This record gives sequence, C-alpha cells and structure tokens, in this order.
Amino acid sequence: MQIKRLRLSGFKSFVDPVDLRIERGLTGIVGPNGCGKSNLLEALRWAMGENSARSMRGAGMEDVIFAGTAHRPSRDFAEVSILLDSAEGDETEVVRRIERGAGSAYRLDGRDVRAKDVSLLFADAATGAHSPALVSQGRIGAVIAAKPVERRALLEEAAGIAGLHVRRKDAEQKLRATEANLARLDEVIADQE
Ligand code: ATP
Repeated sequence: MQIKRLRLSGFKSFVDPVDLRIERGLTGIVGPNGCGKSNLLEALRWAMGENSARSMRGAGMEDVIFAGTAHRPSRDFAEVSILLDSAEGDETEVVRRIERGAGSAYRLDGRDVRAKDVSLLFADAATGAHSPALVSQGRIGAVIAAKPVERRALLEEAAGIAGLHVRRKDAEQKLRATEANLARLDEVIADQE
C-alpha cells in the first residue's frame, strides 16, 4: 500500500483546501519555523485514527479545526483525506472529518465506517497513526530511549501484525460471550428436565 495524496481542508493552519502528492520512497518536509511541517504529519496521523488530542498538541480534538487569525475567521470543520494505492493499482480514499460540537467521523470510499475499521486497514498495511515510518521531531530520541516492550510494539507495527492483537481481543470477547450463552443454555435445559 502506498500513500499517493494527502488532502487537507480547515485542518490547523491549512485553512484552504490543499493537495499534496506523495511520491514513492522517503518523503521529507522542510520549511521555515512555524510554516506547518508538524501539522502535516499530524494530519496524516489524525486521518489514520489518532485519538489523543495531546499528541495533536491540543487540549481537545476540536483544536485541530482552523481557529482563525487576525485576517480570517475560524472554520466549523476540518477534513483530511488520504488516497491510497494498492499493489494491484486499486485506489482507496480514507476521509476523517470533524465538526464543531458534532465530533468526528470516517469514510472509506464514500461509505461511513468505524474508527476501528480505519485503524485495522492501516495496521494490516504495516502503518498507522503510531507508525515508526512517520518520523516527527523528537521521535528518533524517543525510539532510542524506548523500553523493550515499547520497542516490541514498534516492531509489530512495522511487521504489519499489530492488527492481529485487536482481532484476537475481539475473538476472545466473542468466545467468552458464547461460553456464557452455552452455560445459560445448560441451566435452561437442566431446569426443563
Ligand atoms: P517548527 O519548525 O517551529 O517546529 P512547524 O513548521 O512544524 O514549526 P507547525 O508546528 O506545524 O510548524 O505549525 C505551527 C503553526 O500552526 C502555528 O503558526 C500555529 O499558530 C498554527 N496552528 C496550529 N493549530 C492551529 C489551528 N487550530 N488554527 C490555526 N492555526 C493553527
């Protein structure tokens, strides 16, 4: 899977709609202080499902919406779209949108989906909001100082197996619910005998 394009509208300092083409290989973002380099990386992470406002450098998630300047009014929504290209050449578009007072929602090729569907999509493709492939300022130091268990999580994400943990948890929950149902059924049968 390859990210082909990042589209932002109303996200942090990117008030006007903007498209960024992402080519194959390593992509670096350079520019003067405060021009929005970190905001771009945060937009990618946010559309991939990041749910911590703190890691978006805000107090609440609505802080990702353009807050206005002396010359421009604030916006009521922010939207980020990621266009993905599969190895077979199929395109998939993931969109996350947040509106003031209404929370955020995801769409996959125009269909409403859950946050979990989006994070599984990226986890299976060995990437995601916490992917070691997204290297922000301070990240290299954090990786070097990481505890073994944290480093293992990084390796699992890079290997594309992080999604398996989520599926295993789901399967375990279903198994427990089924076992409880079977036990209840045994009780009902015993009552009737
Ligand atoms: P540096 O090189 O100094 O780390 P940078 O290029 O990474 O900077 P960012 O931190 O991405 O820059 O962008 C900072 C800019 O984004 C600031 O000017 C800040 O005011 C603006 N900004 C952040 N959130 C919002 C928002 N919700 N609405 C409007 N502008 C915002």
